Amino acid sequence: MPVDIPFRREFAFEYGRLEPVAAGIRRIVARNPSPFTFRGTGTYVVGQGEVAVIDPGPDLDEHVAALIEGLAGEQVSHILVTHTHRDHSPAAKALKEATGAATYGFGPHAGGRLGEAGIEEGGDWEFVPDVTVHDGDEIAGRGWRFEAVHTPGHTSNHLCFALPDQGILFSGDHVMGWSTSVIAPPDGEMSAYMASLDKLLGRRDAVYWPTHGPAITEPQPHVRAFVAHRREREAGILDCLMSGPQRIEAIVDKLYVGLGPGLQRAASRSVHAHLLDLAARGIVDSDGPPAIDAVYRRARS
Ligand SMILES: [Zn+2]
Repeated sequence: MPVDIPFRREFAFEYGRLEPVAAGIRRIVARNPSPFTFRGTGTYVVGQGEVAVIDPGPDLDEHVAALIEGLAGEQVSHILVTHTHRDHSPAAKALKEATGAATYGFGPHAGGRLGEAGIEEGGDWEFVPDVTVHDGDEIAGRGWRFEAVHTPGHTSNHLCFALPDQGILFSGDHVMGWSTSVIAPPDGEMSAYMASLDKLLGRRDAVYWPTHGPAITEPQPHVRAFVAHRREREAGILDCLMSGPQRIEAIVDKLYVGLGPGLQRAASRSVHAHLLDLAARGIVDSDGPPAIDAVYRRARS
């Protein structure tokens, strides 16, 4: 029986409008819809009068302008960034220039390993946080208090931001309601991702607000379904290798039936992430380095 993930895709919003979504929380959605961003990037505003902005979004002038207009008469005191993909952090620059607020994040994209094979794509290499945030750090402003939760996997620098007093977790791209997360090696790492899902299962947050799509109101079963889904995917990959050595392409063809155009590459990278994890655990071998175009086989036990 395939794992049934309780996806949530009903999502009411209006582009360019800062709208209340919960007590003390507003959101504005950028007009950058895609197969990876759902309807677009949801930029959150926490507080009133003196506010924190989470994930300012892509480098889209109209988005930053609409956010600033929506906050007329208020002051931005903190800019929090969940991770450095181009749909999340680039607008931090314009927002900081307009407001003077400091930026908060785990660190530069991929630990600053610019130029290393395969990690440029989708990364915002310009973002460097003013304040480096570590796991468990508290970030407080007027009327709110965040706890940072380091959740590597989707990227190595991914942070979720909890509001422990309200039972809320801004889950970024780590856990979303509308889709699974893309785990693209080498900065994306399957073993880290699985550990970061476990980390959330050990917490008591009542509602997740991801950067893309609607809130997740039953986070624990949702996260458990993602864990089960990846275990199932891993079993499927091992099953494919039972019939002999394979390339990633062939595994994707077998496991991802009816995959939409443009998602082939993401699926390949996700299978690659599993194979790297399996190779590190000694379960799988590759001919030569475990690259995306290598031939993979079951390890002799
Ligand atoms: Zn991302």
